[in-house]
Amino acid sequence: MSKTIVILGAGVGGLATADTLRQLLPPGDRIVLVDNSFDGTLGLSLLWVLRGWRRPEEVRVRATAASLPGVDLVTATVDRIDIPGQGVHTDRGVIGYDALVIALGATLNAGGVPGLADALDAGVAGQFYTLDGAAELHAKVEALGCGRIAVLVAGVPFKCPAAPFEAAFLIAAQLGDRFADGTVLIDTFTPDPLPMPVAGPQVGEALVAMLKDRGIGFHPRKAITRIDSAETTLHFDDGTSEPFDLLAVVPPHVPSAAARSTGLGEAGWIPVDPHTLSTTVDSVWAIGDATVLTLANGKPLPKAAVFAEAQAGVVAHGVARYLGYDVPERLFTGEGACYVETGDRQAAKGAGNFLSSPAPSVTLYPPSREFHEEKVAQERAWLDRWNT
Ligand SMILES: Cc1cc2nc3c(=O)[nH]c(=O)nc-3n(C[C@H](O)[C@H](O)[C@H](O)COP(=O)(O)OP(=O)(O)OC[C@H]3O[C@@H](n4cnc5c(N)ncnc54)[C@H](O)[C@@H]3O)c2cc1C
Repeated sequence: MSKTIVILGAGVGGLATADTLRQLLPPGDRIVLVDNSFDGTLGLSLLWVLRGWRRPEEVRVRATAASLPGVDLVTATVDRIDIPGQGVHTDRGVIGYDALVIALGATLNAGGVPGLADALDAGVAGQFYTLDGAAELHAKVEALGCGRIAVLVAGVPFKCPAAPFEAAFLIAAQLGDRFADGTVLIDTFTPDPLPMPVAGPQVGEALVAMLKDRGIGFHPRKAITRIDSAETTLHFDDGTSEPFDLLAVVPPHVPSAAARSTGLGEAGWIPVDPHTLSTTVDSVWAIGDATVLTLANGKPLPKAAVFAEAQAGVVAHGVARYLGYDVPERLFTGEGACYVETGDRQAAKGAGNFLSSPAPSVTLYPPSREFHEEKVAQERAWLDRWNT
């Protein structure tokens, strides 16, 4: 009897899962990919939109039936997942499944910090975690004559731990003389003790040194409690406050309501086995930003496309095996690399194994043109793969 496999979310993880599963399963099995919009983007492109090197229309990822033959693309919002009933409730009806892959990513929640939504509405703040947001923030940086730009991490966890620091480097490069002569200052604020803390102190300290060399301030252990948009001031939980003229913010992230409705994880992020991405329910897997994958040091795996894509191959094989097909088992190895843009078409590269014990083993290689080009090649390959 033919089976139905439902994949929720057509971002990095969901697209790659659908593609691999279609190659593994017989044509009679139905693969359904659900998203509220098949018009997405790769996260790394957002930073180049912020810098002004890409226009939003150049980096849209639009999967179609041509790029995913044999996969049913369903445009619908997932409202609720009924695990006991093996059904996904959407605004276009209920879809039953034999196996389910949850790849719903993380949701931005500007309401998570008092005053943030007001600051965004008032135009004194911008965010670079969406295409429109990145383009608007680029224009705000362009228009700023003088003053102080605060780059703020408004909560953890958040996608791509390097992104706020890349944003600071790229904004500095965009400002050019205004930054070089001190007309505009840039300061970064994060609740973490170091950038990219999961990668270990050596990586974090190297990144802090790079920020300082560039003349960008780094302020650790700054958990935001309130943003006053009238007075353009940040208030932190240690009682301090900091003025800004333009705020570039990483908005707080929350799990999607649909993922929370599974009840699989207390905080809504879905706990998964580090090697198989299976959940506590036999017929359900979760990958990418929607999950919490706990590492040997007790910290969660960073939310990054490189991991979501690798996990897609793992769960595709896991699902096929669960359905009784003779395919080899694949395990998630934790290997991965991310690039830190430093401004002038150069990038540093952090690479290693995040599943190493007792802690991730990651090395930060100094910035080079070659690493930037590797990142450009990643973007090109992803756009070419889906925009058929
Ligand atoms: C500025 C920035 C820079 C980044 N740079 C890098 C980088 O250099 N390297 C790297 O590896 N990663 C990077 N990332 C992170 C990367 O983009 C994410 O980790 C990755 O996209 C996660 O993939 P995913 O499939 O888990 O989720 P997503 O790609 O976010 O996909 C989730 C999908 O679910 C859909 N969805 C959510 N809720 C619903 C619902 N209720 N109903 C229907 N559909 C729904 C969404 O529309 C979306 O298409 C960056 C991210 C940002 C924001």
